[in-house]
Amino acid sequence: MSVRFDKVLIGVERYICFCNFLCLCPETGLDGFSYPARLPGTFFMAPQNVPDISFTRRSDLFGINHPLQSELPSACEIRPGLAIISPLYRTKSGSIGMGMIYNEYGRTGAKVSAVGFGGMRFDESKSDAQNAELLLYAHSKGINYFDTAPDYCKDHSEDIFGIALKQMADVRDQIYVSTKGMPTSIDTADKARKAVEKSLKRLKVDKIDFYHVWCIRRMDQYESAMKKGGQYEGLLKCKEEGLIDNIVISTHLQGDQICKIIEKKEFEGVLLGVNILNFLYRWQGVQAAFNAGLGVVAMNPLAGGVVPQHEKELTFLASGNETPTEAAIRFCVSCPQITIALVGFTTKEHIDTACRVADNCRPFTASDIDRAKEHLSRNMDSLCTGCGYCMNNLCPKDIPIANYMQSYNAKLLQHKNDKEMTEQMIFQHEWGYLADRQADAADCTQCGECEQVCTQHLDITDRLAEIAEWESALKGD
Ligand code: SF4
Ligand code: SF4
Repeated sequence: MSVRFDKVLIGVERYICFCNFLCLCPETGLDGFSYPARLPGTFFMAPQNVPDISFTRRSDLFGINHPLQSELPSACEIRPGLAIISPLYRTKSGSIGMGMIYNEYGRTGAKVSAVGFGGMRFDESKSDAQNAELLLYAHSKGINYFDTAPDYCKDHSEDIFGIALKQMADVRDQIYVSTKGMPTSIDTADKARKAVEKSLKRLKVDKIDFYHVWCIRRMDQYESAMKKGGQYEGLLKCKEEGLIDNIVISTHLQGDQICKIIEKKEFEGVLLGVNILNFLYRWQGVQAAFNAGLGVVAMNPLAGGVVPQHEKELTFLASGNETPTEAAIRFCVSCPQITIALVGFTTKEHIDTACRVADNCRPFTASDIDRAKEHLSRNMDSLCTGCGYCMNNLCPKDIPIANYMQSYNAKLLQHKNDKEMTEQMIFQHEWGYLADRQADAADCTQCGECEQVCTQHLDITDRLAEIAEWESALKGD
């Protein structure tokens, strides 16, 4: 069994871990026994129990000072600069195993769970109160970072969070709440303040731990957020007043543009769309943010559902008995550069899967990466993630753009030819994503509005033209 230490501060202080597990350094891949041989005095393993183990707050929370304590095989002593590891929280359910990994979020001092709760994929057929239970369940599994935004889930997400956060008031100091505001609509400092106040009210908290300047797709949007009297100025004021703790940015920009933003040192962390399918093309931004000491949160670790929906085609991602979905989560959780893998949860089973992967997290080895690289092509960066930004009543023709683009994913992932795609359209029209469409692909006027907002920078109009051919073949035109 292995434990991944997120950071080892070399030469600063001796770190002592009293656990029986094999610890791996993410930088060198060395285990705890080999490490001191190479870097004397920096890391030391004592593979036996000690009588006076002091437990972490997180562990206390899960009832570690419990009669079972005498049976516990090990514990990790927590020191500054190391990931917090609480291998014991599952003792509550009677089984002793590894626990959630906690990472330092940049320089903020926050210790955040390696798996974060993404509040963008609630089951909309359920009530807000039913969906709120998921947050409590996630918290019981060790997740302490909860991310939402206005507009998520038809604008219910912040309210769902509010219901849960009210019930979690007694552990408020042990969890981190994150939400967002888009500078395209929040274009003044005054509006920024009002948006923060509105989110606070909906979330039923008196402080937002991480507030995102949200969805920066183009540099002019970033510049608009940072202009004098703009959103960022309003957020700084909110920070001074204690309404928010950290200002961070959520972006879909390319790596070199992200580097330019990071250089300005305006943000504590970055939320980026990076996953096992697109990391080859997104890594520059991730590495730059990590090098700059910022927190790095990976949104869409499952590529917006593409991985679970196409497990058959993506088996090459997995190793051993894991599924491609588990491999995708493991990739983000085990990358030292990534602080949090933000997973959108719909069910408790989704939470169980993500936590199980984090609990048993094996590093992504060089051969895992090589195997993935061998199969990945630029196409993987061209997948629609189903984020839905192109929907929002934006298309003058009411074309279900995201649904069409999700159908198009099959061409990229399964290398389907025109005939096969035409056949697929039959199914989609009758039973699938496109069954209740109000308009066809051929109705597109190529106004380009959707491409302006697409978080994946997809050539939507070209794809719709291609799809229109398949639909036309279907009608026998
Ligand atoms: S380019 Fe086509 S699909 Fe996109 S918004 Fe305009 S009409 Fe709709
Ligand atoms: S087409 Fe682009 S904006 Fe629309 S859902 Fe797909 S990735 Fe998101």
